[in-house]
Amino acid sequence: MRRSAVFLSAVVLLLATASCAGYPPDGSAPAPAPAASASQTRSAPPGPETVRANELGSVPVLMYHQLSDHPASVYDRTAADFRAELERLARENYVPVTAAEFTSGRIDIPAGTHPVVLTFDDSTNSQVRLDAKGDPVPDSALGILLDVARVHPAFRATATFFVNGSAFSTTGTAAALGWLTRHGFEVGNHTLHHSNLATLDAAGVQEAIASELAEITKAVPGTTVQSLALPYGAMPKPGSLAVAGSAGPVAYQHRGVYLVGSNPSRSPFDAAFDPAAIPRIRSEAASGPEAAFGSTTWLDRLAANPADRYTSAGDPDHVTFPKARAAQLAKSLQSRARPY
Ligand SMILES: [Zn+2]
Repeated sequence: MRRSAVFLSAVVLLLATASCAGYPPDGSAPAPAPAASASQTRSAPPGPETVRANELGSVPVLMYHQLSDHPASVYDRTAADFRAELERLARENYVPVTAAEFTSGRIDIPAGTHPVVLTFDDSTNSQVRLDAKGDPVPDSALGILLDVARVHPAFRATATFFVNGSAFSTTGTAAALGWLTRHGFEVGNHTLHHSNLATLDAAGVQEAIASELAEITKAVPGTTVQSLALPYGAMPKPGSLAVAGSAGPVAYQHRGVYLVGSNPSRSPFDAAFDPAAIPRIRSEAASGPEAAFGSTTWLDRLAANPADRYTSAGDPDHVTFPKARAAQLAKSLQSRARPY
């Protein structure tokens, strides 16, 4: 896994050039969806050996764009394929956490489960639509996620939506972002106009990010934005401008900056984890263009190599891992280490 991650880092650049195009809005559909359920039960976790806990293992950060009945590019998925992937994740004991939770230093999921970060780019209407009563429609990505979580109560209904200007225009930005933040979903920044940050000067980079932050906070006053997804996966120069900066009165500070493609992320507790360049995996079937770097291939590989995958010990105050992996732990986390 480690060797694969290094090998694949070059592919990130290739994928970044072709990714994440803007998409037109699609139609709307009626009918309410069930409410979100993010409750977690708490009891003493079993011993880490029992569940083979490894909180230094890899974590898939999955990247979704548009749901479409007629996928026009490798970035589109059908609703049926999207639902099937969520069902698979639930069946394989993955539990969604938001991007902000992933980089918070505390991943609070039950013993024996694996974190997965579900991320959605470009704020298309196929992702989030609310009906006249203000409930998510069932055939939106949000509606499907809520339904899978209802059927699989251990599968938390949460995700991170990286949004641009005029987000979720069918519903309206304020209504859509308001619903998401009220129900435990994260709203992240994807720049106001989906700008290629590698092509802008320092002032332009900061304007592109800060202007979208202003849009988000206008729609949801008081919200904090902790995560940024780079349009096209394109890193500004210097990369630090993606982490922190300001334009006029608006200042931003991100805890995580997300790339496009193409392999699982290291654990956030790994010494080599870089929160300013977190890789993501495009949702994709087992075959198709670059399917070797898509979600089906990677989920198969993680399933086939369980020792390399992040498995929770159910104790979010500590970082638990097999003793043999001790050298992997970030030095700043030594006081929380629970090797076994
Ligand atoms: Zn995008």
